[in-house]
Amino acid sequence: MPQPPSVAALIMAAGSGVRFGGSLPKQFQPLLGASPLRRTLRRFAGDPSVTAVYCVTASDMATVFAAQTTDLPNIIRADGGATRQESVRLGLEAIAAAPASPDIVLIHDAARPIVPGDMVDTLLAALEQHDGAAPALPVADTLSAAADGRFGTEIDRSELVGRQTPQAFRFGPILKAHRASQDHPATDDIALARLAGLQTAIVPGSMLLHKLTTADDKGMLEALLRDQGRICVGSGYDVHAFGPGDHVTLCGVRIPHGRALVGHSDADVAMHALTDAILGAIGAGDIGQHFPPSDSQWQGAASRIFLERAAADAAAIGALLQNVDVTIICERPKVGPHREAMRANLASLLNLPPERVNVKATTTERLGFTGREEGIAAMASATVSIAG
Ligand code: MG
Repeated sequence: MPQPPSVAALIMAAGSGVRFGGSLPKQFQPLLGASPLRRTLRRFAGDPSVTAVYCVTASDMATVFAAQTTDLPNIIRADGGATRQESVRLGLEAIAAAPASPDIVLIHDAARPIVPGDMVDTLLAALEQHDGAAPALPVADTLSAAADGRFGTEIDRSELVGRQTPQAFRFGPILKAHRASQDHPATDDIALARLAGLQTAIVPGSMLLHKLTTADDKGMLEALLRDQGRICVGSGYDVHAFGPGDHVTLCGVRIPHGRALVGHSDADVAMHALTDAILGAIGAGDIGQHFPPSDSQWQGAASRIFLERAAADAAAIGALLQNVDVTIICERPKVGPHREAMRANLASLLNLPPERVNVKATTTERLGFTGREEGIAAMASATVSIAG
């Protein structure tokens, strides 16, 4: 069996993203909880065909880069230059400075955070016959010249495609092409490869590779990310006993009752179950790990703190909450009259439309500890989509 090629990914994140707005370049700004840069780096770091990941950023973004990649320690950052072309060359030089050069380099824009699952292997297969390869899409719109707000001559689109990234090359030839073409401006690396006489192949492009340029693109990428997500489900269960008191708090709603629920926090059993469900869906343990009862800062705390933290933890890994469902198990108090208030409260806390939040209740037909009114139990489930 021949050895598989060694493949370096070179992620370009040196642009200033001035058309996008905001205080950080677009590739560092949150996109459904994880920046395009983070999504892109995770994608390539997790690709079984990729052996090393390099990233080029502006030198003044080194701190932001480090903060966004604390869990991706093997990615090597290099400083960029004044143009994308110069930044790519500097990235290639950083790769060349490593003890062993890779066989292949994939050059990719961090502003294209969704890379289809089979794209890397498709490009590598194309390199068995060619020096370079890139995905490209046919042009769907009618093309024409334009000047002064008026259309000019139509341009035949039948022979045109739009080039995307990642663009794949044998490492030595593309490094040589970049070194030789520093005075020849080009907007991508296929252009330089062609200038150097390399043979380049088209592989089928994808709408998923859409580039984040304007605020409109952000909405489109968010829609694509929602659609592409991996669905994960978590469940939660909690019980609190009754003690002396005059109200209970369920899903953040205060309900007058002849007894209270006993607990370290406000004992909102329903919100605790829901917090556990969200933590479960994102593989983040349970509420006791994050908010130990031994920690006095949670004494009497409003349980919305726990729920909001779990939702923030989900957002931080790029998980998008899809729906939650809570079941409160008790004889009394009657939940029905408060159900819509509970639903509205959870929807507001979780930033979900109310139709994606369900609160229901059941008795246990007077059986067991809930039937004897010794306490209240709650179950919850949460569905998240975790974008790639
Ligand atoms: Mg609890």
